[in-house]
Amino acid sequence: MRIVLLGAPGSGKGTQSQILVKTYGVPQISTGDLLRQAVAAGTPLGLRAKEAMDAGRLVDDATVLDMIGERLCQADAAFGFILDGFPRNTAQADALGSMLKKLGRPLEAVVLLNLDLGVLFRRLTGRRICEGCGAVFNIYTAPPDPEAHLAKTGHLPQLIQRPDDKEEVIGKRLEVFDAQTKPLIDYYKGAGLLQVVDADADVDTVFHAIQRAVPPRVC
Ligand code: AMP
Repeated sequence: MRIVLLGAPGSGKGTQSQILVKTYGVPQISTGDLLRQAVAAGTPLGLRAKEAMDAGRLVDDATVLDMIGERLCQADAAFGFILDGFPRNTAQADALGSMLKKLGRPLEAVVLLNLDLGVLFRRLTGRRICEGCGAVFNIYTAPPDPEAHLAKTGHLPQLIQRPDDKEEVIGKRLEVFDAQTKPLIDYYKGAGLLQVVDADADVDTVFHAIQRAVPPRVC
């Protein structure tokens, strides 16, 4: 399986990627996660990326492409991958196409998780992450059950909000999606790779829609 999950922030790319990882045994490659790890580790790349991330802007293409080029060459990506949050603009999509051509492993599908703007806003403002284990909750639609969480993980939920999920940054991230990432819909439609999935449903329903959307030889 070599696919891109395309969608605005909050459309469920991360959640669906994790289920695809468990089901098909290929890695999720999330540029957002890789960048957040670099920021947390205080690497030079992380320091360069932090300002753009905190402001809801895209990190520069050269930094992201270096990072993704290295990640795609790691052994676990040889048998497939789910790209989450990459590419984010047509320059990145062109570069991805060239990289995969060199590796002889072209994309098999691009799945667009389609969601209304109002729903996206609510998902992002409500998203909270447990600092102890990284589990993702939503204070409006999927709040944690403290006792169940304690039984499962050994700790109570310690909810934090990603700095870029603050209301004042969300507007900017959605604007950036509209201006820079949305053109990828036509880009991949033109390449015959685009599949559209309605992402305004529960997690299982969306997952089954993704399975139906991805050509059978890919799953
Ligand atoms: P995400 O977790 O995918 O929403 O990404 C969080 C932030 O990381 C974004 O708002 C960008 O600042 C940065 N980022 C993630 N992926 C990319 C990418 N492919 N290109 C540029 N910036 C990115």
